[in-house]
Amino acid sequence: MLNLNFHPAGRHFLGIPGPSPVPDRLLRAMSYPTIDHRGPEFGALGRQVLQGLAAVFRTQHPVVVYPSSGTGAWEAALVNTLSPGDQVLMYETGHFASLWHRMALRLGLQPEFLGLPGAQGWRHGVDAGRIADRLRADTGHAIKAVCVVHNETSTGVTSDIPAVRRAIDAAGHPALLMVDTISSLACVDYRHDEWGVDVTVSGSQKGLMLPPGISFNALSPKALAASKSARLPRSYWGWDEILESNKTGYWPYTPNTNLLYALSEALQMLQAEGLPNVFARHARLGEACRAAVRAWGLEIQCADPKLYSPVLTGVVMPEGVDADRVRDLIWRRFNLSLGTGLGKVKGRMFRIGHLGDCNDLSLLAAVGGCEMGLKLAGVRVRESGTAAAMEHLAATGSELRAG
Ligand SMILES: *Cc1c(COP(=O)(O)O)cnc(C)c1O
Repeated sequence: MLNLNFHPAGRHFLGIPGPSPVPDRLLRAMSYPTIDHRGPEFGALGRQVLQGLAAVFRTQHPVVVYPSSGTGAWEAALVNTLSPGDQVLMYETGHFASLWHRMALRLGLQPEFLGLPGAQGWRHGVDAGRIADRLRADTGHAIKAVCVVHNETSTGVTSDIPAVRRAIDAAGHPALLMVDTISSLACVDYRHDEWGVDVTVSGSQKGLMLPPGISFNALSPKALAASKSARLPRSYWGWDEILESNKTGYWPYTPNTNLLYALSEALQMLQAEGLPNVFARHARLGEACRAAVRAWGLEIQCADPKLYSPVLTGVVMPEGVDADRVRDLIWRRFNLSLGTGLGKVKGRMFRIGHLGDCNDLSLLAAVGGCEMGLKLAGVRVRESGTAAAMEHLAATGSELRAG
């Protein structure tokens, strides 16, 4: 049970790469009374959010909304389009790609996991060339889908999705393309239709700034066609009944009403800022964070500068330093949460999130907390990362446009 008497002065700094800080405006919207989800007001809300989502996913086609965490939307993507024993090509970029792969196994699919040996692949993105080679070798078209993670949240590597699309096309292969954008949507440029993605999987608690609890599947006509003949069992996740109800702005079962209020608010905020500005803000905060890590003389988990994530930065600890001990110390001393190392990189690195409702000073708080914590933990830093981040932020960016 959360101890409500524990309230250190000031704000908690939620520096994990999702859930990201929820704007007060969204929290207030969520406190409106829960309405009848079959009543006349609700349909207008439903239609409004479905329309707003299309602009964020950059699609003319349906977006399915689930009252679930992102993991549910992974499952929905697979069970709506595939049949027992189908071959699926996946790519090991990190922990989240590995979890999706494990889910495919558990669902009775035959996933093949491309990647580099050991934890090497956890510093790089998807190698589209290897996908093209593998698909060319599949002359019988046994592979039914290619599944990749756009922004690998466990490492801070953002893969090139159009390159994956080109690889599939270059191989002349009919496999569906499914992309996990749970941590990239509304942080990094993403175009469902233009990039030829068949199912885009996403979630509410990262770039969309909501609490956890809503997830998404954006569809293509090809994915919808595949769902007609797919034979994996599905009921709750079935697109057909949801799309039918969505025509009038409703859902076949009770949707997450109060989170939909917040979603409506978040979509308005993103539209007001403008998606290109949202992406530029994330890119710039990412640059400032990496300037700090370099000044400290520490290594960035992403080994390919072209694929640095605008969403989070993975900070590798020197040999012999337990990253979780540093993180724990930072939480206890400075009321700042940082992301733990996951899976193969547990204890080796921590993650600084700079996504969602973040600005220059929230980044500086995170970097400053890290710098003090590193020193207290006895990690030698070369020079001040906070100063380097401040310099970058002061030299770039622009004034607020009030009114
Ligand atoms: C957060 C995340 C997930 C898991 O989503 P849940 O909401 O925790 O189920 C999957 N993939 C990526 C890339 C993520 O960042």
